[in-house]
Amino acid sequence: MRTKVPYSYEAPVSQTLFDRAAVVTPGGVNSPVRAFRAVGGTPRFMVSGTGPYLTDADGREYVDLVCSWGPMILGHSHPEVISAVQDAVARGTSFGTPGEGEVALAEEIVDRIAPVEQVRLVSSGTEATMSAIRLARGFTGRAKVVKFAGCYHGHVDALLAAAGSGVATFGLPDTPGVTGAQAGDTVVLPYNDLEAVRAAFAAHPGEIACVITEASPGNMGVVPPGDGFNAGLKQLCQDNGALYISDEVMTGFRTSKAGWFGVDGVVPDLLTFGKVMGGGFPAAAFGGRADVMAHLAPAGPVYQAGTLSGNPIATAAGLAQLRLLDDAAYDKVNAVSKELQGLVTEALTKEGVAHRLQNASNMFSVFFTANEVRNYDDAKAQESFRFTAFFHSMLAAGVYLPPSAFESWFVSTAHDERAVQRIADALPAAARAAAEATA
Ligand SMILES: *Cc1c(COP(=O)(O)O)cnc(C)c1O
Repeated sequence: MRTKVPYSYEAPVSQTLFDRAAVVTPGGVNSPVRAFRAVGGTPRFMVSGTGPYLTDADGREYVDLVCSWGPMILGHSHPEVISAVQDAVARGTSFGTPGEGEVALAEEIVDRIAPVEQVRLVSSGTEATMSAIRLARGFTGRAKVVKFAGCYHGHVDALLAAAGSGVATFGLPDTPGVTGAQAGDTVVLPYNDLEAVRAAFAAHPGEIACVITEASPGNMGVVPPGDGFNAGLKQLCQDNGALYISDEVMTGFRTSKAGWFGVDGVVPDLLTFGKVMGGGFPAAAFGGRADVMAHLAPAGPVYQAGTLSGNPIATAAGLAQLRLLDDAAYDKVNAVSKELQGLVTEALTKEGVAHRLQNASNMFSVFFTANEVRNYDDAKAQESFRFTAFFHSMLAAGVYLPPSAFESWFVSTAHDERAVQRIADALPAAARAAAEATA
């Protein structure tokens, strides 16, 4: 399923590595979207990153607008994060016991986000949402989970229904390997549709354990909640004895100092985190109301555990990164994001390309459609073949975009004028390529 790539450029070393990888790893990658299947061409094998730049195995440098899908909000190889990691590594890499770093990271999270009274550290966003749902079911004694089409919550069996980008990229309506029993208690509703949620509660009285939603979705492209949507969800959950779980794995510590909660102020019962809080290492978390968290083992009966949970290197990296993320840092990231949004709009408008730029704080993405995108069906209605042309033109010019039309773009505090200029220089040709693209 390779799309024909209309640009003549090569990445011979990456291609050789990809060929080797395909022998020993399914599809040659360890996470599907990295394979470039949605856009075609050779995935770039990166060898190093500094500030806003990545360098691939062919020695070509790119301005990075993926930032490891969000975590690298300070840019790559930030000296203070690297130094914290080096200090931690020198003391040993894993003890399987409690350690002070875990306490400090938990305190930092609790200090920043008022609704988080207690937090449990895990190693991936998937683990965080999986555990939060188990906890919600254990706490309420109910089975059903409401999620929204286009929202991705990691590859949790019960949540791999209409799960956005990764799955959208492959056009799989669902995935083999998830049984009817595992997905049978999942109710999938259209995003931004409170009436649908109201109807679901009416149809399943006393059965819904929780509603899980991306705090502001970034996994179908950026589709922010409409006015009052999150507040309405919270109210409906409260009225019906269900928990409101805000998945802040992507938005947490990115969209503000207190994540999306810091933007809309709606108080969830449980929240999940990952990405930014790990500083580029596998660290994630879920937390929220103390009375709910008290149901978690060993304090309570709901089991949850992890050999590498609270790993000292990961917690050191996460803590160092969070401590650097002050108001000035968010101002910087927001300003760069805004500047780029303006440049993209300008270039596409100039070429007469129907497009819609959507943002949630500094997360943003471009939809190749004239219409507002409020849910997954709207997102899928875009002309994604134009994105393919746009993507490859940018890549050839040294700008690394997410290799799918259904992903957020990410910037960092390290994206300086030189990096922005390279993007600005690349945009006119990419906009022209998008204009000329045919399905
Ligand atoms: C990335 C993401 C996850 C999954 O996190 P992993 O660390 O990849 O398992 C869950 N929820 C959201 C909103 C995400 O963006």
